[in-house]
Amino acid sequence: MDFDNLTQAVNNIRNFQNYYHTMRIWNLESNELLYESQDNDASEEFPTSVLTFQGSTIFIHKDTNTLEVKLPVTIYGQPCSIELIQHRVKKSDADSIQTMQELIMTDSLTGLYNRRFIDEQFPIDMESAFHKNEPLSLIYADIDLFKEINDHYGHVVGDYVIKETANIFIQSIRRKDGWVARYGGDEFLLCLPSINQETAVHIVDRIRSTIEKNDFNMKDNTFKISCSFGVQTLHNADGNRTLNQVIELLDRKLYIAKANGRNRVIV
Ligand code: GH3
Ligand code: MG
Repeated sequence: MDFDNLTQAVNNIRNFQNYYHTMRIWNLESNELLYESQDNDASEEFPTSVLTFQGSTIFIHKDTNTLEVKLPVTIYGQPCSIELIQHRVKKSDADSIQTMQELIMTDSLTGLYNRRFIDEQFPIDMESAFHKNEPLSLIYADIDLFKEINDHYGHVVGDYVIKETANIFIQSIRRKDGWVARYGGDEFLLCLPSINQETAVHIVDRIRSTIEKNDFNMKDNTFKISCSFGVQTLHNADGNRTLNQVIELLDRKLYIAKANGRNRVIV
């Protein structure tokens, strides 16, 4: 959402006043609080309309019964954030929001996180790693010659290969190390906050080798596959990068991996 000025933005969020105990508008560039309102009498009903705002992030803090919605907007052409907080969210609302969030962040074929999750989580993890002056490593993977599997065995077997490969990724990283998502068709993205390049390469070598050795069995067929990988480690000193910039860097490495014979890791 774009607003010409602060008054216009404030007038727009007045509609939410009945639902949120605290409303704030921040200028993200200067970190300046532009507007704040408090209303302790606000209703505890959850305004589902807020879920439809593009790019909004909803946080549920079950320990404090707090619901926090953040909407990215521009005011005077500057990046700002509208923050809406409800302090006494009902447990049933919290549960259904959590279920809904899990559904919209999950890829239905593999059960991995999906693109939406990547878009939301990557900037958060990058900022948090850089804040601690730690690196963040990303691994991009693409199944080799996957079209041939579809063409030769059919799409059902193709789907099975994607699912089985996803399982290998899940089993190959510890939950505390980071997360894995399906970026698209036969492409996966692993995000490893606080992990340096050397460790990331160690992890990706292990995954590459596990995939190469795995027997894929379906419909009386047994076959092997391989994956190509790109690794990119980001550092605070290089400044923040957008997800698109990082994907471009990784894409180039993947292209080199494919051109050099596939089933390899390019750092
Ligand atoms: P390369 O080694 O260069 O990656 O060759 P490739 O054949 O794997 O080429 P590419 O990665 O471009 O092919 C991806 C194919 O994956 C194309 C698309 O038809 C197929 N695909 C995408 N999503 C799905 C899916 O959900 N299920 C199945 N079965 N196929 C899919
Ligand atoms: Mg491929």
